[in-house]
Amino acid sequence: MALKKMWDKNFFKKFAHLGVPDHMLSRSSIGFQAHWKFITNILDQRSLPEDPWDEPKIKQLLTLLNYLDSDKDPGSIRIGEREGRIATPYLGDLCANFCHGVGRSGNLTAAQPKAAGASLMQNLTNKLVLSLITSVGIPNLKGALTVPMGTGMSIALALRGCLNHFGVDIHRHPDILMTQVDHNSPHKGIEFIGGQIQTIPGKFGRNHYAEEGVFVDIEDLQQVYESRRNSVSAIVSNSAFFAPRVPDNLKQIAKFAQEHNLIHIINNAYGIQSKKISTLIRKAIDAGRVDAIIQSTDKCFMTPVGGAVITSPREEIITSISQAYAGRASASPVVQLLVSLLSMGKSGYRKRMEEQLKNRLLLDQQMLSLANSHHERLITCNNPVSCAMTLSQLNSDQITKLGGFLYNMRVTGPRVVNIHQSEFGTCTTKDQMMDAAIDSYIVMNAAIGVDPIHISEAIIRLDKAFSQLDE
Ligand SMILES: *Cc1c(COP(=O)(O)O)cnc(C)c1O
Repeated sequence: MALKKMWDKNFFKKFAHLGVPDHMLSRSSIGFQAHWKFITNILDQRSLPEDPWDEPKIKQLLTLLNYLDSDKDPGSIRIGEREGRIATPYLGDLCANFCHGVGRSGNLTAAQPKAAGASLMQNLTNKLVLSLITSVGIPNLKGALTVPMGTGMSIALALRGCLNHFGVDIHRHPDILMTQVDHNSPHKGIEFIGGQIQTIPGKFGRNHYAEEGVFVDIEDLQQVYESRRNSVSAIVSNSAFFAPRVPDNLKQIAKFAQEHNLIHIINNAYGIQSKKISTLIRKAIDAGRVDAIIQSTDKCFMTPVGGAVITSPREEIITSISQAYAGRASASPVVQLLVSLLSMGKSGYRKRMEEQLKNRLLLDQQMLSLANSHHERLITCNNPVSCAMTLSQLNSDQITKLGGFLYNMRVTGPRVVNIHQSEFGTCTTKDQMMDAAIDSYIVMNAAIGVDPIHISEAIIRLDKAFSQLDE
C-alpha cells in the first residue's frame, strides 16, 4: 500500500550522499520500518490490537492522521467561513489537533472534505470499538457509531434514526414504552424527540429463578402496550442500573418487540464491562428484535464524559442513525475513545473486566460483614456491578445524616435511597417496597476501573459513619 511506500528503499536512497555506507542504511531501514509497522497493521486489520500501545505510538498515529486535514496543509489557501481556525495552539492540544471536527451537514459519518484525517480517525475508532465489543461479549453486532453526546441524548438520536429508518411517524405513534429506570436523562432524551413515555413499572420480588430484585414483568409490558396499542412506536429497555434493580429480561422484550413490530432500543449505559449483561444482549438479538444498543464512553471505556457508542446488529440502522444527526460534531469524544482503546488494547480491557468481577465479589463480602455487624442485610439481587445493603434500623433523620457523613468523609458514589422521603432510585413504587418489606438502603458500585483499596476504605468509612450516628 501507498503508506508502506513512503518508507521504502527509495526513501533511504536519499541518505546515500551523506557518508553512511549502503549496507548500514539497508540494515537500519528494517528497524525504521518496524516503527511504522503497527500503524500499517492497524489500518490493514481495522481491529483493536491485543496489546496496549504506548503514548508515543498513539501520538504517531494521530500526527499522521492530522497531516491529512486541510488546516494542516501549509500550501492551502483558506477562504471559507470554517477553516479550522483556532485562537491559540493550546486549543489544538485539547482536541488532538482535529480542529475540523467530524461529519458534514446532516450526516455524522459522511467524509468531511476538509478533514480526511479526522474522517479516517472516526471510521477507524468505530471499527476498533466494534471489534472490542464483539470480542468481549456481543459477537452478533454489525455496526458501531461513536457520538459526541451522553447516553440520554444518544437514546434520542438512536430512536430518531430508527423512526426514520422504518418510516414510523412519531406524531401518529408518540408512545415509547420504557421499563422503569429512575434516571432523568433517558426520559429527557425520549421527550426531546417528541416521544411520550409510558413507563412499565418495576416490582420488587423474585423471578422464576427465585432471584430477589426489582424486575419488570413482561405481563405489565403487555398490559401497558394493550392500553395504547395504536400509538406505540418503540420500547426502551434497560440492562444496567443500581441494585436492587436487575437487568431486564431482554430476550423476552426482544421477542415482544418482534411480535408487535416495535423498535427496540437497549439502554446499556455501563453494561459492556459485564459478560453477564453482554450475554443477555447477545441472546436478545438472536431471539427477537433489537435495533440499537447505547453505551456511555466514560462508564464503559474510561474516557472523559462526553460520548456514547451506539451499536446495532444491522449496519444500515447505524447509517440511518448517523444521518439523523444534525450537522458537524466535535472530534474530541471520538479521539478520546480511540486513545483510551489503544492505551488498553483488547488484553488490557479483558484484564479490567476480570478485575471488575473480583472487585464485585470483594464489595459483596465486605458489605455483607458490615451488614451483619449492624443488623442489616444485603439485598441479594443479581446485579453484576453494585450491591445494596438495607438501612432498616435507621429512621429517616439518621439515613439523611449517614449520607451526609459519608459525603464529608470524602466518599463519592454511594447512593442512599431514603424510602421515607422519596422512592426515586428504587425503580418501583413506595407501596411495592413496603409490601416487600424492603426498607431504605445504600448502594455501592464495583464498576470497571475501581481500585479495590477504595472498596475496603469505603466500607471502613461507612462503618465510621454508622458509629457517628450514635455520638
Ligand atoms: C449514566 C446513565 C444514564 C445517563 O447518562 P448521560 O450520559 O448522563 O446521559 C442513563 N441511564 C443509565 C442507566 C445510566 O447509568
